[in-house]
Amino acid sequence: MLDVIIVGAGPAGMSAALMLGRSRRSVLICDNAQPRNAVSHAMHGFLTRDGMAPTEFRRLGREQLQQYPNIEFRVTTVLDAKREQNLFTVTLSDESVHTARTLLLATGMKDVLPPIEGFQRYYGAGVFSCPYCDGWEVRDQPLAVLGNGPAGEALALQLLQWSRDIVVCTNGPSQIDAREQAFLNHHEIKIYEDPITRLEGTEQQFERIVFANGSVLPRKALFLQTKHLRRLELLDMLNCPMPERYQEPIAPGIYLAGDVYQTRWVSGAVADGAEIGVMINKELQKEDLTRSYRSLKEV
Ligand SMILES: Cc1cc2nc3c(=O)[nH]c(=O)nc-3n(C[C@H](O)[C@H](O)[C@H](O)COP(=O)(O)OP(=O)(O)OC[C@H]3O[C@@H](n4cnc5c(N)ncnc54)[C@H](O)[C@@H]3O)c2cc1C
Repeated sequence: MLDVIIVGAGPAGMSAALMLGRSRRSVLICDNAQPRNAVSHAMHGFLTRDGMAPTEFRRLGREQLQQYPNIEFRVTTVLDAKREQNLFTVTLSDESVHTARTLLLATGMKDVLPPIEGFQRYYGAGVFSCPYCDGWEVRDQPLAVLGNGPAGEALALQLLQWSRDIVVCTNGPSQIDAREQAFLNHHEIKIYEDPITRLEGTEQQFERIVFANGSVLPRKALFLQTKHLRRLELLDMLNCPMPERYQEPIAPGIYLAGDVYQTRWVSGAVADGAEIGVMINKELQKEDLTRSYRSLKEV
């Protein structure tokens, strides 16, 4: 029986595995290679890793985990999770079954893009969701925001830190009220209400917005707030709803780390994973010590 099964080997899962491995815990970490930033060519804002390709980051992480014989890494999908008494059993896509004392879900999230031609294609290549991750590379360039109402206004104002040439595309009638509009005007931010038909560009790079009225607006980058789908399917299988007030563990023996809960950064996910790794080790140690104390009393 294992000490911990970790589902997801992104920054959060691998960081937890490192702490647990170094605590001499037996760990199985499983990953099916669908990281949130798969479309991104370079990751920014993480000290000592600024500009590194996410694939290289993951390769290095995996290489470092290999130094610990008590950590097993598998490229596989965890299809199913069950809880029986105090143990967790998972089934992998190779049909193997594994049991552990604790389960850590570091499964990340998926960004949901608008169903408009070009968004999927250019996400990470001129279409971005995070100015802190990708704003610097397009500083002082013509930028667009896709958004409406107060959220659209807020994102446009936020982007002023990176460029003064900003437009807001509301993709339909504007819900930006007169006060917000006056504020945008004050910063020379124009509103385009026409629906967007598609995004166009080169093979690798977004270059322009095409509107339903046929007009074309060249822009260096487009920022939007994506919807987030947290990967919580395994929690559902365990019949474990998210508690109203988030806590770790979210149920006895079940932990979450990284974007699946709330982080939006690689560095944040790494920090989260490390903390949860230590927390799991402490909980297991408490259990171990209680058990040995009980058996001592029985003697
Ligand atoms: C376009 C884009 C650009 C970004 N740029 C930056 C940036 O420059 N700097 C920055 O700090 N952050 C950036 N981010 C955010 C960053 O990607 C996330 O914050 C980070 O990846 C979160 O790490 P995580 O470990 O929680 O999740 P992830 O990295 O998403 O890892 C989760 C892993 O779990 C695996 N998984 C899920 N379910 C299963 C299952 N059932 N079985 C097996 N494996 C499973 C997935 O395959 C995935 O590998 C960007 C995000 C996007 C979308």
